Amino acid sequence: MLSSLMGEGFFYLGNDCDKEEQAVYTKLAELREMAKQLIEKASTCEELEDIRVKILGKKGELTQILRSLGELPPEERPLVGQKANEIRDDLEKHLGEALLAIRRTEQQVRLDRETIDITLPGRPPGLGRRHPLTQVVDQIKEIFIGMGYSIAEGPEVESDYYNFEALNLPREHPARDMQDSFYISEEVLLRTHTSPVQVRTMERMYPEVPIRIICPGKVYRRDDDATHSPMFHQVEGLLVDYRVTMADLKGTLLAFARQMFGGDRQIRLRPSFFPFTEPSAEVDISCMMCGGSGCRVCSNTGWLEILGCGMVHPQVLANVGYDPEKVNGFAFGMGVERITMLKYGIDDLRLLFENDLRFLAQF
Ligand SMILES: [Zn+2]
Repeated sequence: MLSSLMGEGFFYLGNDCDKEEQAVYTKLAELREMAKQLIEKASTCEELEDIRVKILGKKGELTQILRSLGELPPEERPLVGQKANEIRDDLEKHLGEALLAIRRTEQQVRLDRETIDITLPGRPPGLGRRHPLTQVVDQIKEIFIGMGYSIAEGPEVESDYYNFEALNLPREHPARDMQDSFYISEEVLLRTHTSPVQVRTMERMYPEVPIRIICPGKVYRRDDDATHSPMFHQVEGLLVDYRVTMADLKGTLLAFARQMFGGDRQIRLRPSFFPFTEPSAEVDISCMMCGGSGCRVCSNTGWLEILGCGMVHPQVLANVGYDPEKVNGFAFGMGVERITMLKYGIDDLRLLFENDLRFLAQF
């Protein structure tokens, strides 16, 4: 007659049940109904787990009822115990099914959310680009290659001989004070200009002419402020041939200035001094901001200094074996940072070395 206990959620109890047994059955039936309702309402795994603990856990309500079986007469315990176990199995089954259903729903929601819209445009990878200094060096190279020059390179750690002495800057020469150098030992230093490459090239080429090279590279001096960096870039040029004149030099530099800064640039040469050229000159270009009428950039002069140059000093030619009575040449040198700042209107040298992408992305 207990077979209907697991039936339609309704307990049929015979008249022969005593009152205690009846009370346990009632409790079990109520518990089962309550649990089923809770399970139906639960919408998350956590809620289901709470229900399981509340009903079936060590201190759960069903467990309490099972514990209280001891109070029943011994002959009734097995039947009631069996009933309670059936309810436990039933509830565990329900919990399992509910859990599965919730997991399926959660997974579906996640999948729906993760759906990829293949019609969206792609996200292009951020492209790197050349540093403005590199761009300017490449442009300078291109201009001079177009005039028949080739590229020469040399060591950045240089001997005193190539950096100074061969360039007509013997020891105790006052012009050495013009450049505060980074010495590694008494005879070895970080080159203060790219001119040693000119000496090395002439040594290698001798006695051939013509020599037409430009030497781009890093140079080092003890300077560090808004307009000087301890490391900066130079491009120097050298031409050695028969019967080279200042007019050749001026024409070359004018062609360079116009390709670099615009076709209507003018240049002017001002007398200057360098130990390795004679005569020497500073070269200005007409200001591209104001066209020569004067502005803030050119300090109202209408001119901007861009490089130094001169005819190769006879002693420099003699130092590498050439006969200065037979061949001569010209040389020039420019700071790449200065050219870059003028070309792009950059007013602080340090911007070129901070590698701030917001700045670099503009070039
Ligand atoms: Zn100006």
